[in-house]
Amino acid sequence: MTHVITRLCIRGGECVDVCPEGSIVPGPPGSPEWPYLYIDPVRCIDCGACITECQIGAIFPELDVPAIYQEDIEQNRQFFSRGPGYWKFMREDLK
Ligand code: SF4
Repeated sequence: MTHVITRLCIRGGECVDVCPEGSIVPGPPGSPEWPYLYIDPVRCIDCGACITECQIGAIFPELDVPAIYQEDIEQNRQFFSRGPGYWKFMREDLK
């Protein structure tokens, strides 16, 4: 399994700071294709720390993602397969 960031994301970035695996990466600022933060499904260890930290409830365990956000599961995967993946971002890139 993995955890998934849905389109509710407002790029707060608190989840990035608490992830013990460094598996949460923002889309490049201003990118229309990658506007949110994304979780690497390979590196995520399902600790749940990001869920607690997200103030707006944008993150779910994969099996609990609401039906209306189901396509965000694949979008998180694709960010790391065909998208920017682990590009070198700075703290200010989170907004
Ligand atoms: S569940 Fe844990 S390992 Fe997975 S993205 Fe969230 S904080 Fe990182």
